[in-house]
Amino acid sequence: MSVIPVEDHDAVLVGGGVMSATLGTLIGELEPDWRIAVVERLEQAGLESSNAWNNAGTGHAGLCEFNYTPRRGDGSVDGTRAVEIGEQFATSLVLWAHLVERGVLGDPEDFLHAVPHMGFGRGPEGVAHLRARWAALRGHPLFSDLEYSEDREVLAGWLPLMFGARPDGEPVAVTRSAQGTDVDFGVLARRMLTALRARGAAVRTGHEVTSLSRQGGAWHVDVRDRRTGVRSRLRAPYVFVGAGGGTLPLLQRAGVPEVRRYGAFPISGQFLRTSRPELLAAHHAKVYGHAAPGAPSISVPHLDHRTVEGQEHLLFGPFAAFSPRFLRAGRLTDLLRSVRPGNLPVLAASARDNRSLMAYLVGQLAQSQRARLAALGGFVPEVRAEDWELVTAGQRVQVLKIAGGRGAMVGFGTEIVTSAGGTLAALLGASPGASTAASAMVDVLAASFPDRMAEWTPRLREIAPPTADLARLERDDLLARTAAARRVLRLDPPHPTHREDTA
Ligand SMILES: Cc1cc2nc3c(=O)[nH]c(=O)nc-3n(C[C@H](O)[C@H](O)[C@H](O)COP(=O)(O)OP(=O)(O)OC[C@H]3O[C@@H](n4cnc5c(N)ncnc54)[C@H](O)[C@@H]3O)c2cc1C
Repeated sequence: MSVIPVEDHDAVLVGGGVMSATLGTLIGELEPDWRIAVVERLEQAGLESSNAWNNAGTGHAGLCEFNYTPRRGDGSVDGTRAVEIGEQFATSLVLWAHLVERGVLGDPEDFLHAVPHMGFGRGPEGVAHLRARWAALRGHPLFSDLEYSEDREVLAGWLPLMFGARPDGEPVAVTRSAQGTDVDFGVLARRMLTALRARGAAVRTGHEVTSLSRQGGAWHVDVRDRRTGVRSRLRAPYVFVGAGGGTLPLLQRAGVPEVRRYGAFPISGQFLRTSRPELLAAHHAKVYGHAAPGAPSISVPHLDHRTVEGQEHLLFGPFAAFSPRFLRAGRLTDLLRSVRPGNLPVLAASARDNRSLMAYLVGQLAQSQRARLAALGGFVPEVRAEDWELVTAGQRVQVLKIAGGRGAMVGFGTEIVTSAGGTLAALLGASPGASTAASAMVDVLAASFPDRMAEWTPRLREIAPPTADLARLERDDLLARTAAARRVLRLDPPHPTHREDTA
């Protein structure tokens, strides 16, 4: 019988997406002597959900998304979630700026671009919601440049493609923040992992984690080289599973009790894409509208300016699609294999309690290209079908569990699961996603290493300040902190401290 080689590490990170890359980076900064291993099943890191074309590349900062600012019964808006997301994104900016200053991320232009973020309200309700959103947020320092207008001439100046030839009649309004960003999270993940490898970490691509088990107070992580089939074992006191759609199956196979009753359902996304120069010239923004009644927040339509590998594009969507795979490069049997006696009740309850979502998904699956172009027509009045191609984005694995007696989808939030006294941590769910990786990974550190946080916090405040710290800063200090990061990241224009409202 052949003996499987065993390697000892202080931390093993499963998956080479933006989440593991960020956690590895933070651990490397806090504990430079720790032996870190990262295992990625594909030939390169950052090719699944973090890859530029597998997500919309929006640096979510709460600047334009209606779903982060629900309306109250009296018509006003609760801005709490948008502010939280703004703070979480600020943590990401500070971390990226720190890494750029250290010279390990290369040119920020390769993964980060300034693109105004705009909210688009249509119809009396949409306009009222947007106006209330603007009123609730504009007093906060992170939203101090937020402008609002219903004036068609102003809108045609901001968004020529959407308002240049728009017929009058329907009430419309737009908010605009020049602080918005477009991010290539795949490039970012690869750069962070290259830097981690340079400081001594073992970053293995083309290697798949096949199982996890806890033996004698340590985690045993079994790995298979996908090229040669050779098997090896990594042993570590700490494991993070940042395997995206591969996370739940790995935890299920490991028998992690915290997820025994969890189910999963994959929803894939599609976008319409164009790179026609005349259209690009008339649209330089990410514009977020509101979701159709009954549709989930991930379905919020948006028209985005993107820069990927130096090329500019417009992207419109998302449209929901279905594939039983849990990863784009996953197996057709992924969904079937995730069904177990322990999670059958939650699958049944989720189907029963999410009828409007199910109806929405079925409607999306039946949608024709004509219907997709008609949806685009709500944003761009004059659409030529031949300008737009349909592209498939990444898989979102919506985690299903019982919450408040009902079958709920967790995928629309993010959940950190810890097991065995925090020695194993995993990330489930996908929203708001990659933008908030830095603060999500600070939370993972806090959940995994509560005893170390007092020692680590001063350093974290410098490189990736916890959101609670940002929330406590005085207005001018918060603005100074984000402005300094934005300068390093060459995000122009600089954050304005005072601006007259335009409404
Ligand atoms: C359609 C869509 C649009 C989105 N838009 C945005 C957006 O605009 N802004 C935003 O911030 N976020 C967005 N997101 C969310 C964002 O893409 C994700 O939150 C983020 O990329 C997740 O990163 P990750 O590292 O957890 O996962 P991934 O990037 O998927 O990385 C997981 C890695 O683990 C590897 N892996 C899996 N199983 C194993 C195994 N057994 N062994 C070894 N390796 C394994 C995979 O190959 C993969 O590389 C979007 C997502 C989708 C699907």
